[in-house]
Amino acid sequence: MPGDGSLIIVMRAGATREDIDGVLGRLAEVGAEAHVSEGSHQTIIGIVGDRALVQQLPWEALPGVERAVPVLKPFKFVSREFQPEDSIVEVGSAKIGGGRFAPIAGPCAVESREQLFASAEAVQKAGATILRGDAFKPRTSPYAFQGLGEAGLELLAEAREEFGLPFVVEVLDPRDVDLVSSYADLIRVGTRNMANFSLLSELGRQSKPVMLKRGFTATIEEWLNAAEYIYKEGNHDVVLCERGIRTFENATRNTLDISAVPIVKGLSHLPIIVDPSHSGGHKELVAPLTRVAVAAGADGFMVDVHPTPETALVDGPQAILPAEFAALMDEVRALAAAMHLEV
Ligand code: PEP
Ligand code: MN
Repeated sequence: MPGDGSLIIVMRAGATREDIDGVLGRLAEVGAEAHVSEGSHQTIIGIVGDRALVQQLPWEALPGVERAVPVLKPFKFVSREFQPEDSIVEVGSAKIGGGRFAPIAGPCAVESREQLFASAEAVQKAGATILRGDAFKPRTSPYAFQGLGEAGLELLAEAREEFGLPFVVEVLDPRDVDLVSSYADLIRVGTRNMANFSLLSELGRQSKPVMLKRGFTATIEEWLNAAEYIYKEGNHDVVLCERGIRTFENATRNTLDISAVPIVKGLSHLPIIVDPSHSGGHKELVAPLTRVAVAAGADGFMVDVHPTPETALVDGPQAILPAEFAALMDEVRALAAAMHLEV
């Protein structure tokens, strides 16, 4: 769909194949191109064509049509114009969005059963609702630890059983999407892959929710367009994660762009969380950056927690200890209450 305005037709939850074909037939008659996004709850149809002509037609009178919404932004389905209400994404037993601050925590990478289980037990006791831990690591050096691969996914699945926590894990390669999707509760796209459009489309065609991190050189608009790649393929469960952008400042790993939280909230209905670990890059910054995330209206945070950061194979300097995470959760609960958010 071009950026110069178009229309989205939202079908009713119970719309039949015939209803959808009826709409597509009318679109074909007026020479408009349609993009059909069949989600698990609802089908939505994006239209490209002569806007004036398309908008004149009485779409809402057609069987099965709930509403027709004009959208001016280059990203359509993820825009607030298309859906004024906040999206809530279900991740196993947990939820992200809709008035709660979701705590996601665990080690950067799965290193061993002992390390993962110690982290999972601690974060679960402290109140985390989703476990993090990676099996495939995108490393700056090709010689650095790359993750345990499928063995790491198996350990995460065991930890889910043991501690009752759904988990989020990164996928790096479109060829691994089916494998990761068969284990994960929430699949993460990392900053380096935000503009890997074939990976995004592939994730749009599988059924697990997706967390899309912001590219460290991406504008907010580029990021929302990346989310659109996933959404338009039919996967409507997308969570955004602000994780810092590259600026001239080198006191931090990246600069947390806290303004992105309210800006995204204005532009999109998708939930947005903050990663205070990968943005700041230092454990001392995790608590202050988490506090501003709650105050800015984020829908949650994702933090690196490691039982022995000094032995961590990845990102030790930014990991906090289990006891530090428990103390941070106490602060988060107090701040979230002031913001009228559940934790
Ligand atoms: C991570 O969360 O472990 C990670 C690699 O983050 P990012 O893609 O934001 O660098
Ligand atoms: Mn990391």
